[in-house]
Amino acid sequence: MKKTILHVDINSYFATILQQENPFLRGKPLGVIKDVGRTCLIATSKEAKEKGIGTGVGKSDALTICPDITLIPAAFNRYLDTTKRMQKVFRNISPSVNIYSLDEAFIDVTHCRKNLYPNVLELGEMIQDSIKRELGSWVTSNVGVADSRFMAKMASETAPKGEVFEVTAENRDLILATTEFKDVCGVGFALARKLKLLGVTVPYQIRFIPEEDLSSLFGPFWTKELLKVAYGEETHLLSQLDRKVEHMKSVGRSITGYRLYRDQTEITNILKNLCIEIVSKVRKMNLAGRQVRLGLYGQNKYWSTHITLKNPINHLNDLIHWINILYQRWEDKFPVIKFAVRLSLLREDFQQELLPSWQKHEAIQKAMDLVNNKFGIFTLHPAAVPPKNELIYPEVTGFLGDKIYQLGEET
Ligand SMILES: [Mg+2]
Repeated sequence: MKKTILHVDINSYFATILQQENPFLRGKPLGVIKDVGRTCLIATSKEAKEKGIGTGVGKSDALTICPDITLIPAAFNRYLDTTKRMQKVFRNISPSVNIYSLDEAFIDVTHCRKNLYPNVLELGEMIQDSIKRELGSWVTSNVGVADSRFMAKMASETAPKGEVFEVTAENRDLILATTEFKDVCGVGFALARKLKLLGVTVPYQIRFIPEEDLSSLFGPFWTKELLKVAYGEETHLLSQLDRKVEHMKSVGRSITGYRLYRDQTEITNILKNLCIEIVSKVRKMNLAGRQVRLGLYGQNKYWSTHITLKNPINHLNDLIHWINILYQRWEDKFPVIKFAVRLSLLREDFQQELLPSWQKHEAIQKAMDLVNNKFGIFTLHPAAVPPKNELIYPEVTGFLGDKIYQLGEET
């Protein structure tokens, strides 16, 4: 059965939500930075994009191009809230929804198209209206319609802002022959560069490379993938969305500091701070993990190590204990700019309740959970963490790598 998939993508999401909340920012060039003191723009409004200021542009470059640009720190919790509201809009249309990132989703209407939505272009406009009703009148979106997630995403990526665009048998090849690889899902920068060396800049051209040449240049996996790309079929990356994952396999947290850290107490305090967030998330999902990983990044240096334990852990004292053990392996002591902690090999069936020491720690941890769930994550914490104004709070990533945790998504 031929599928009908819609890809919905909010235009300039982070900036648009800020403009929706504050009418004084509407119609003006706006840059979103991750935090005060950061030097790179993580998102820009359509007015800034019109001046050539896109995502990733440095703060000083942005100010040179456009001295009156407004720069505002990102509000990750608000974005997550709007994503959840969007999710509700989509679930009202079809039960089959994949949230792909904070501002993107695929809606499969294959089975309800005939009776409920005979006109998909009207459906696309209806979704755009519903998003405006739910999130505000300033919020515009693109909707791509096609027979695969791959083509639907390409359609919304290439359509003019605020439009609904359907891929049909007539325009399909034209789209594949005019879309640059930067707008093709799953073709990364390195792959695109390699293809460019062959003179290939759009998917359609791949059809004319002999398969044995593709194979010797890209290997068997990418040959198969590139042929799917050439004909607009669902690629491996997107078909992964159908894979059922019952729970998260690992929870990690990394943070890049504003400066280099040399003081060993400061470094270990930051690591404890990250442990608190990880344990909080892991416990909210009723999981426990058996592998602890620590990574430290200097300016040109990187060091990491890990340990695999016999029994899974999900108590803060245990995670801090193992991070301390791993930390003692670090001999180089270079100044650190980025910190990363991860608890993996997570599982649901951990039964250590019989151990008296486990019971004691579980009682303490439960009491901490109770207070922190009610009054905020850092209400009760170990004595040694960074000072209050430097605490690192949980934040949401744009690509929603932790969406099972954030949205309760099963896939
Ligand atoms: Mg978007």
